[in-house]
Amino acid sequence: MRTGLYPGTFDPVTLGHTDIIRRACSLVDKLVIGVAVNSGKGPMFTLQERVAMVEAECVPLGQQVGCEIIVHPFQNLLIDCARDVGATVIVRGLRAVADFEYEYQMVGMNRSMDSSIETVFLMADVKYQAIASKLVKEIARLDGDITKFVPPEVKTRLMAKLHD
Ligand code: ADP
Repeated sequence: MRTGLYPGTFDPVTLGHTDIIRRACSLVDKLVIGVAVNSGKGPMFTLQERVAMVEAECVPLGQQVGCEIIVHPFQNLLIDCARDVGATVIVRGLRAVADFEYEYQMVGMNRSMDSSIETVFLMADVKYQAIASKLVKEIARLDGDITKFVPPEVKTRLMAKLHD
């Protein structure tokens, strides 16, 4: 039984994330989606809201492809979270070169803390590669159409949040 951990902020979950999750499901039997409590990014959505959105979008997706998906909030070290959930693989998505430098350092540091946990990088389908939660929020704030970037339910919640 192979368990993977896909960590992130998911503020909110996008079609880029769900594409990576679908791909990760073909590599592991169980995928734990680690929702970071607050990675210093000052999330727009509360932890509970982010977890609820990830659960609503991803648990059915896992059922479709035969992979158990669990959503797990965490605020400790990523490597400790991986050990806590029994993950042997950390999954990260790679978008552009800009992601690479940070990810490169993360792998190096994590590996020196626990060399038994591997990190694998996946790329989303080309139509989702440029999507970033931060830009989705900016576009929505400026009344742009975010239909192509997030699942419909997430769009509804984001619009409601902005009109609060
Ligand atoms: P983080 O705070 O780690 O950047 P995010 O929620 O922004 O958290 O992203 C979680 C993971 O998903 C990261 O590995 C990120 O690179 C990846 N990711 C996000 N959007 C995309 C996308 N459009 N294509 C590929 N990977 C993505």
